[in-house]
Amino acid sequence: MTENHRNLIAGAWQTGESEIENRNPSDTTDLIGLYAQASADQLDATLAQARVAQAEWAAYGMERKQAVLMAIGTELMARAEELGILLSREEGKPFAEGRGEVYRAGQFFTYYAAECLRQLGENADSVRAGVEIDVRREPVGTVAIISPWNFPTATASWKIAPALCYGNAVIWKPANLTPASAVALTEIINRQDIPKGLFSLVMGAGSTIGQRLVESPQVDAISFTGSVPVGKCIAAAAIQNLTKVQMEMGSKNALAVMDDADLDVAVTLALGGAFGGTGQKCTASSRLVVHEAIHDAFVEKLVAATKAMKVGHALEQGTQIGPVVSAQQLAENLEYVTLGQTEGAELACGGERLQMPTDGFYMSPGVFLNTTNAMRINREEMFAPLTSVIKVGSYEEALAVVNDTHFGLTSGIVTTSLARATHFRRNARTGVVTVNLPTAGTDYHVPFGGRGDSSYGPREQGKTAAEFYTTVKTAYISAGPI
Ligand code: NDP
Repeated sequence: MTENHRNLIAGAWQTGESEIENRNPSDTTDLIGLYAQASADQLDATLAQARVAQAEWAAYGMERKQAVLMAIGTELMARAEELGILLSREEGKPFAEGRGEVYRAGQFFTYYAAECLRQLGENADSVRAGVEIDVRREPVGTVAIISPWNFPTATASWKIAPALCYGNAVIWKPANLTPASAVALTEIINRQDIPKGLFSLVMGAGSTIGQRLVESPQVDAISFTGSVPVGKCIAAAAIQNLTKVQMEMGSKNALAVMDDADLDVAVTLALGGAFGGTGQKCTASSRLVVHEAIHDAFVEKLVAATKAMKVGHALEQGTQIGPVVSAQQLAENLEYVTLGQTEGAELACGGERLQMPTDGFYMSPGVFLNTTNAMRINREEMFAPLTSVIKVGSYEEALAVVNDTHFGLTSGIVTTSLARATHFRRNARTGVVTVNLPTAGTDYHVPFGGRGDSSYGPREQGKTAAEFYTTVKTAYISAGPI
């Protein structure tokens, strides 16, 4: 029997004004469930209750908050296998990646559980005699969290965990393509010792309920991860109420492969970076900037390794690349394949729709050769299992190509030269830079974010998250005469 899943509104599970189907992209006959779509009235009600709950939560002791976050994180890690299956079933990433994502989500909560106990402020003497200054952080209030489908549990968790840690209420609008993971995480959070209505789940379309959420004067801060056009729309809405915003958006990450690189290492990094998560990562290596001296040898190994990758059902053993997330995403990807060829790129392999035993959105990983950085396939985010090789004549040219983009999330270099690695690290115009590592894959205790069109507002993760989820108060205290 098909299960109907509800939203968490003002602390109670409620059906919505309509429902959507959630189907498995590896097998479209597999209906995962029906998911409620919140109404405008439900959103308003939950926003009102969040304000009350936030005041109560902020007054909880820090050990009580720490226990809540620790319990959420511990449960996620313990159930990584079960919830990883659910995630892979609805999103399409291979099971090992789904399980890894849920485990990592748990680590965000346990990291911020510890941060609950580390809320240190600053103090200073005043320029005025007998006056002392105390600087501390307070919660911003109610935070709207809008998350994408490609990391449905991890991206949401790296926002929800700090939001709760620093004393805020959360209204979560997950992507409609991945509601099952959202319900599973909400069930865990809602079972904890938290005030009624502190955490809300409002599933629904971004263009309706999402838009109403970001326009609400009841929201004090919005943390968004998604595409650039939607991000710009959200920023425009937010400014009307002077709501604080933090946005992580698209990118066009480059991996530079130098003539002194270990070729096998370079190919492994390029493959993982380009095709991990079926290429649907904001940190994907979608431009491979390769030195001409090793270009042909690199390309030969890369194309052979790409052809050998196993595309299949996300939950099937041995699958390295799952389906893309939806019919629409698949259609867009295939349009990019045609566009690349029209622009003069040579498709060395892949880029085709695949038929499998189950009906899903499968495509073979594709490699474009003989591309220039001016081509649209090298300027626009494709979010597909497609990557382009750009041949360059020197390290200097490689760096210039890496930086020639209006995005700036991650970049990487593969080299055995300390001098080049150091120069690259200091001159790549991205928020994250890697040396002999893939452009994808980051830690949770350090800042994450980019430059240009990739990010806007304070960085996420690590201690830096406090910049967004808190507001600073400066207190002046005059003790008076003894
Ligand atoms: P979208 O921008 O389409 O959607 C992201 C979220 O915003 C979804 O929950 C969506 O809801 C919601 N949304 C859509 N329209 C509105 C609106 N008008 N008001 C409020 N919310 C809205 O992105 P995708 O889901 O397609 O995710 C892929 C994108 O995310 C890629 O561009 C990728 O680069 C980026 N990304 C960036 C990361 C980073 O850290 N920089 C990390 C991961 C992904 P719904 O889907 O239900 O309509």
